[in-house]
Amino acid sequence: MIVMKFGGSSLALPARLEAAADLVAEARRRGRRPCVVLSAMGDTTDELLAAARAAEIGDASAVELATAAFERSAAAATEVLGDATEAVATLATLREAAIVLLRGVAMLRELTPRTSDAILAHGERVSTAIFAAILAERGLAVGELDAREVMRTDDRFGRARPDPAVIRDLADRRIAPLLQAGTIVVTQGFVGATERGFTTTLGRGGSDWSAALIGAALGVEEVQIWTDVEGVLTADPRAVPDARPVPVLSPAEAAELAAFGARVLHPATIQPAIEAGIPVTVRHTLRPGGAFSTIDPRKRPSARGVAALASRGPVTVLTMTSTRMLATAGYLARLFAVFGELDICVDLVVTAEVSVACTVEPDAPIDRLVRALDGLARVEIARDRAIVVAVGEGLRRNALVVERACRALRPIVPELIGMGGNDRNLSFVIHQNEVGPAMPRLHAEFFGDAGAALPVAADEAMS
Ligand code: ASP
Ligand code: MG
Repeated sequence: MIVMKFGGSSLALPARLEAAADLVAEARRRGRRPCVVLSAMGDTTDELLAAARAAEIGDASAVELATAAFERSAAAATEVLGDATEAVATLATLREAAIVLLRGVAMLRELTPRTSDAILAHGERVSTAIFAAILAERGLAVGELDAREVMRTDDRFGRARPDPAVIRDLADRRIAPLLQAGTIVVTQGFVGATERGFTTTLGRGGSDWSAALIGAALGVEEVQIWTDVEGVLTADPRAVPDARPVPVLSPAEAAELAAFGARVLHPATIQPAIEAGIPVTVRHTLRPGGAFSTIDPRKRPSARGVAALASRGPVTVLTMTSTRMLATAGYLARLFAVFGELDICVDLVVTAEVSVACTVEPDAPIDRLVRALDGLARVEIARDRAIVVAVGEGLRRNALVVERACRALRPIVPELIGMGGNDRNLSFVIHQNEVGPAMPRLHAEFFGDAGAALPVAADEAMS
């Protein structure tokens, strides 16, 4: 059993629907038993949300907005399936149901989270109706399953929390027998239901979470996330054109990269699969034979050390100096309590004997902070800096990584270096305008051909 999840961009056009269906058919032909989890097509969720908000303020465009979204999906379905199909009729029914809800919202001028969820869920229901019909038309045994029969959640509408124990039980009863009988199951991501049967959603982008939850509930071999990138890349391709997919990442590496804004699955969303020991692969729908990444809970520290690079900026560096820091217990606690009171997030921290430097977001209320710290510390402020990070399991034990990174950065000299906070993050603070030249140089060092030929670590050289 596997889960195959397709994101909105993988379903946005007729050709993409066909390509996704090819992938599912191919997996089945090779003897796998796929449970297909789908997002809404393209930007449907945004459009339905815009329609709901328009209805709330009594804007007459609400119905038109929703109708346009449904019509685009129906046109794609017709192009793939022809117009005499059951799916096209189902789409009309779904469209009418959504419009009734929108009219209700417009009449009451009230959009509750519960109603919003009921409206948004139509996006995913449209994709599964179309996709199941495409598979059926190819002669495959397929069952469309309403996610609300399995994805049990609490009643926090708009950000509902799933109940994994109940989901496991329901998946065992409703999905596993179909898969075992050789039927391909097609169901909605993002959508769930409360115990009383009210429609909920897991929050925007929640269909990856659905895929991981269903994968964990079924104990599948693999959760495949089909999207429009070839996995997780070694660097942002806008900064480093020859960035390439990282073959295997640990969940912790993925979490570090996500914290730096790298285009990675949000680690929290795949946590159910990770906890169940199930590998999650990130693949490109239009290049299925190409490279991809596996986020593997069993990954060992990599031989190379660095798995990927990322950067985040601008950030502001604050250097706080006080002679009272010398041998004073509780000084840092008092210092950072002030940050907490002002709701300022501290990111990288490096301390010296009488001063401590940290990075904060550029829009932090620094003037207020400086005043509040009066008497405790003198503050130096350096704006327009950026954090560049090398992420990789085992970095702390890799003697040459810091040396190689600093050499690659030359003549840029990092203003702060952070390492050892965990075993997989080496951070440098440089000027924001140095990030452009720094990233390709670091990438060449760790991922270029010349870089690969250099010895990686002393302990590795010995083994
Ligand atoms: N369709 C939903 C959204 O756009 C869920 C998802 O795509 O994951 O947020
Ligand atoms: Mg989406």
